[in-house]
Amino acid sequence: MKITKPGQKMAEGKTKVVYATEDPNLLWLHSKDQVTALNGKKHDDFANKGALANQISTLLFQYLNDQGFQTHFVEQINATDDVVQKLTMLPVEVVVRNRAAGHFVIRFGVENLQPLNPPVQEFYYKSDQQDDPMINPSQLEALQIATPEESQAMEAQARALTKALTNLFAQSGMQLVDIKYEFGRNQQGELILGDELSPDNMRIIDQATGQSLDKDVYRHDNGDLQHGYQTVLDRLRAQLGEA
Ligand code: 5GP
Repeated sequence: MKITKPGQKMAEGKTKVVYATEDPNLLWLHSKDQVTALNGKKHDDFANKGALANQISTLLFQYLNDQGFQTHFVEQINATDDVVQKLTMLPVEVVVRNRAAGHFVIRFGVENLQPLNPPVQEFYYKSDQQDDPMINPSQLEALQIATPEESQAMEAQARALTKALTNLFAQSGMQLVDIKYEFGRNQQGELILGDELSPDNMRIIDQATGQSLDKDVYRHDNGDLQHGYQTVLDRLRAQLGEA
């Protein structure tokens, strides 16, 4: 069935609106022009931000699908809207870090951008009220959020996805510093990559200049968010072709 219009609004988050579609297994995702940080405590509207983030995410999901990864991405409708597989999302953020940054630097007092070999993998419990605390597989099991097998599968997938994306960014003159993934179960109970893949949920630096091309410039008020996102989109398009 070709999906041509969104159905009933199911949910609205900080940066996205989720609609049902005529197909019970598919959802319509619309990206808003909002940018948020500090778990929503800081938020602003930026013209064109939804389109930039969504087009980057679309390119990356298409790339991963082509590479044989299982993701929720089905089809792009326009610059801000995609159709995706409906998943039951786990309230877990899976972070992989190629280099130290952000909370890792604060937590361990190491140098910013220090390489991490092998890359570090961490789980966080998604809860604005608790400020997304770090969580481990034993806690995920006891809280019935994920089975040990699912935690293992999320870690393995996150590592493999990061390897593929790190290579893609390197070919495009960019360094992937760290990235956050979210997974959900499909109707068969398989864990599938969902959510989005944009500079909202990863740190990317320009290989040549060291300039930050992601949401960090908004978090720290020290750069032009639109310029960074546009640079990422232009370079990925040059590498992968138009989407
Ligand atoms: P950190 O733990 O250093 O704050 O973040 C590590 C990576 O995960 C960064 O790329 C960051 O953008 C992403 N990340 C961590 N928490 C969140 C979150 O709640 N929302 C989003 N969009 N990304 C997050």
